[in-house]
Amino acid sequence: MLGVTGLSVSYGLHRALDDVSLAVAPGEIVVILGANGAGKSTLLRAIAGICEGQATGSVSLGGTDLLARTSDRIVEAGVAFVPEGRGIFGDLTVWENLTLGAYSERGRARRAENLARVFDLFPKLAERKRQTARTMSGGEQQMVAIGRAMMANPDILMLDEPSLGLSPLLCKELFQTLSHIRGTGMGVLLVEQNARQSLAIADRGYLLENGEITGEAEAEAMLNDPAVQAAYLGGAAAAT
Ligand code: ATP
Repeated sequence: MLGVTGLSVSYGLHRALDDVSLAVAPGEIVVILGANGAGKSTLLRAIAGICEGQATGSVSLGGTDLLARTSDRIVEAGVAFVPEGRGIFGDLTVWENLTLGAYSERGRARRAENLARVFDLFPKLAERKRQTARTMSGGEQQMVAIGRAMMANPDILMLDEPSLGLSPLLCKELFQTLSHIRGTGMGVLLVEQNARQSLAIADRGYLLENGEITGEAEAEAMLNDPAVQAAYLGGAAAAT
């Protein structure tokens, strides 16, 4: 279980997150919805240990405190992060990118098993393993980014706007893939602009406004909440 309690992050005088608490259980997809600048990326980056701001509060995984840890020790503890823009190495091949994902001790220990799992999830990556990552399509690069994170053998997978720039068909495939990943028992913490599709596959959601959690509900209840529909789903009419 990933637990965030009373997490606040400031960039100088600007408080980007204020007293945020949330939880992600194994085998659960949790989505964070929020407007631009609400603090969504700050939240994921703070959990991953790569936030430039000053963080206070508590982030823990299975009782291990993560907030004081460096980013590589957070990966070692079991949290992997797919940042916005994917962050893959464009000049390296698919295979090399995936191999780099297994640099942690916990990833190395189960490299062959995880590689089989990634290729099972994304058969295209197996076909294209010698291709240079930057020559792949946006959707394929997103597969590389998710595959690389899975090579760290995480308990919790965090993704920042993974559907950004993908066609409607690829978005659909991406969300189906996240459902499959949940099926392996991994917890998924997702930040998404695509509220409708992400809530459709999620178990629970949180609303983040101006750095504060203003709502938490089962995903289905959120999809049917008029206030959520108005703010994030393009109004009630679009929800039908
Ligand atoms: P978006 O959906 O637009 O990416 P977001 O919800 O992910 O937005 P953040 O990127 O977390 O929001 O930003 C939250 C606030 O913190 C914003 O006001 C932003 O300008 C500020 N901020 C983010 N990163 C930094 C930084 N490195 N230095 C200073 N301020 C920052």
